Amino acid sequence: MSELKNLMISVSGVRGIVGEGLTPEVALRFAQAYGNNFGPGKIVVGRDSRVTGEMVKYAVWAGLTSVGCDVVDIGIAPTPTVEMATERPEHAGGIIITASHNSKEWNALKLLAPDGLFLDAEQGAAVLERVNSAEFNFAAWDKVGKISSCTLAIEKHIEAIKNLKILDLPAIRERRFKVVADCCNGAGGTILPQLFDMLGCKAEFLNLEPHGRFPRNPEPVPANLGALCQAIRNYSADLGIAVDPDVDRLALVSELGVPLGEEFTLAMATDLVLAKSPGDVVVNASTSRVNDDLAAQYGCKVIRTKVGEIHVAKKAREIHAAMAGEGNGGVIYPGLHFGRDAIVGIALILQSLVEKAAPISAVFAGFPHYTIFKDKIELPFDADAHSLVARLSAAHQGDRIDLTDGVKFLYDRSWVHIRASNTEPIIRVIAEAMDASEAQELAQTFKKEISDLAL
Ligand code: MG
Repeated sequence: MSELKNLMISVSGVRGIVGEGLTPEVALRFAQAYGNNFGPGKIVVGRDSRVTGEMVKYAVWAGLTSVGCDVVDIGIAPTPTVEMATERPEHAGGIIITASHNSKEWNALKLLAPDGLFLDAEQGAAVLERVNSAEFNFAAWDKVGKISSCTLAIEKHIEAIKNLKILDLPAIRERRFKVVADCCNGAGGTILPQLFDMLGCKAEFLNLEPHGRFPRNPEPVPANLGALCQAIRNYSADLGIAVDPDVDRLALVSELGVPLGEEFTLAMATDLVLAKSPGDVVVNASTSRVNDDLAAQYGCKVIRTKVGEIHVAKKAREIHAAMAGEGNGGVIYPGLHFGRDAIVGIALILQSLVEKAAPISAVFAGFPHYTIFKDKIELPFDADAHSLVARLSAAHQGDRIDLTDGVKFLYDRSWVHIRASNTEPIIRVIAEAMDASEAQELAQTFKKEISDLAL
């Protein structure tokens, strides 16, 4: 077995450029390890639309069936759809073949626990241990798994959203919202037409076909949404929608063709949920403080976790949160399931527009405004980023700091969050303030301090 190289390995899976790091051999080995740890039983396998998805899929199928797991193939589907299929009691686990917002030459395996959440640190470590030891228990010839396909996962996802009590479907349908959605030729094309149909929207699409040859950088950040902004103006639409290739991140564009930034997605959805059913909100340490402002308006608390969907999802489930998510457009609505889900996110946003009875640009203008500035420090390959961050926090003992994830410096209307990456020799520096220059200045100050410490 060749070495595992040119790969980003984390507790929730393995990611790499196809041909350089992510080979069929790697996918096979992870699937065997996963199947041994979570099988025997039926494992749901879904993928986004990447051109390499088919190749990786067959390696995953071979790995799972070789260790006695049955494969339930749901084809091209969003990550949240695979999560919801996995949590069904007849399924023992799930694997999603997707590199999320990474560009088209990447692919990855995201590994799910039987409850439909990503693997936690312990489960992930156990899979990695088996990958590294290459000790697999293969099934005998007559115990090798079977492959079946399930075509209903997307329909069931839509049906579950349709049944949510928080939505007033007749009212949404009556508005006949005119939307433009950019699917970036990812998995969104398999579900958004049915969603808009169910919600009575008049929908126009950009890059709808899920063929995986992404026409632009697929991350739904403002810099990549120029065509969508133009299309909204051309169609005089009420709202623009962008999702990443596996449909767990949602970004909105106003009726004026202005991108509203991913932090706003979660804030707007949170505002709706808290107005209807107040409760705790769970977000990660780097998510905007606009959520704290909103929660305070409704007399609710915000609980912050380490960065990473699994941390947010587990905490939200543990404390029965009303709402959860990540500031990068990752809406987690606990009333549906504990995974980032752009599809339910869209439904919540439309419900909010119904209640506000105002254009989305006006809703946006009525929210508190902050600017987040993201930067990073690249360290030499053998540097210990975690110990540098620890030294930084030790030097600031008397300050108002939060040690949930790395170190976060808290000020009255701003913050700086500094944490070491788990997959690369990088320290991330994220600052939020009332305006861009203040955020940038805060980040610069700490970047300099870290650089001095590293000398
Ligand atoms: Mg994604």
